[in-house]
Amino acid sequence: MYSKWWRKPSSATLSSMMKESFHLYHLTLYVITELMQSDLHKIIVSPQPLTADHIKVFLYQILRGLKFLHSARILHRDIKPGNLLVNSNCVLKICDFGLARVEEKDPQAHMTQEVVTQYYRAPELLMAATHYTSAVDIWSVGCILAELLSRKILFQAQTPVLQLDLITDLLGSPSPDELRHVCEGARLHILNGKSKPVATGTLYNLSPQVTPEAVHLLCQMLTINPDKRVTCAQALTHPYLSEGRLRYHSCMCTCCSGVGGQRKFAIELEPVAPRPLDPNFDSGFTHVRQVRETLHRFIIDYCEKTQRTPLCINPSSAAFKLFARSSSSATYLLNCFQRLEPATSPETLRLITTWTCPALRAVQFSELLSCGDWDRWYT
Ligand SMILES: [Zn+2]
Repeated sequence: MYSKWWRKPSSATLSSMMKESFHLYHLTLYVITELMQSDLHKIIVSPQPLTADHIKVFLYQILRGLKFLHSARILHRDIKPGNLLVNSNCVLKICDFGLARVEEKDPQAHMTQEVVTQYYRAPELLMAATHYTSAVDIWSVGCILAELLSRKILFQAQTPVLQLDLITDLLGSPSPDELRHVCEGARLHILNGKSKPVATGTLYNLSPQVTPEAVHLLCQMLTINPDKRVTCAQALTHPYLSEGRLRYHSCMCTCCSGVGGQRKFAIELEPVAPRPLDPNFDSGFTHVRQVRETLHRFIIDYCEKTQRTPLCINPSSAAFKLFARSSSSATYLLNCFQRLEPATSPETLRLITTWTCPALRAVQFSELLSCGDWDRWYT
């Protein structure tokens, strides 16, 4: 339900929705987002070359999106390459807010540690700190920068303890002072283990593309102490990101306008949220139906404001007629509805049937999308 942030920098953007599915039946809401053909994980494991320019523009967009989220006090808590969608123009969007939450201001409040995919999990989470901040997302970004450079996961261990060992192999043993907030077991594991030196010089071995600037920024993001870890806003001022910023706002962004020498840059290139997200924004919801209705209202308002029309099923289109005729389940349900509401037109009933039958939705809707009939339906 972070819909209010869908139009925000580098977060997955709402494109449209299917009007009928909600209006007619108030059962299912299909939300359509812009097409993002790939994600960073697929790109990293592909043979596709990744230049220094690619890496910089990706990193810039990740930090720009996260800066906005963090300014709204939203922690994503699952930043990883697979959750960073990329389109054919190298525009990147952060997605999957399933683990997101509003930042907890009370340091005494307990926060769940079962967040963030292990390879990208910050040391304070691995050491079971009960309170943590947006710094957990920055740690993940540091891991991703190293992965972009080397095309290999930086810290890839089987268990959380081994994960922590890999981290201290690179960054050295943390001081007792840096272990103040972690659980006793983790504290003893570190303090009773052998003292490890800092080995960040090995970061130069990640790839021939690694520069002192890249290592400097990496070390700022991969800092064991979350209080000393760089923030998104600070990281965006790092010289390593200057070229990425220029490239993004010269030809990829939607916040600036004009082309070439006429380019008019936005006043705020890395905007912040107008206000923090209210942590009680969903406290009035008692039923999933209310969530759907609120989301529906938001989309309708957005479409009106931007003068866009939600996608509508055209029951006269040949593709839809073929689809509606094709299912015996549809016919069966059609008969049921006709008994209930004899005055309803057959075409409307057919629509209702189509969109209220879970089996049809699950199978035929996905088939429809994958076979490329999308446009034909909505003509
Ligand atoms: Zn711009």
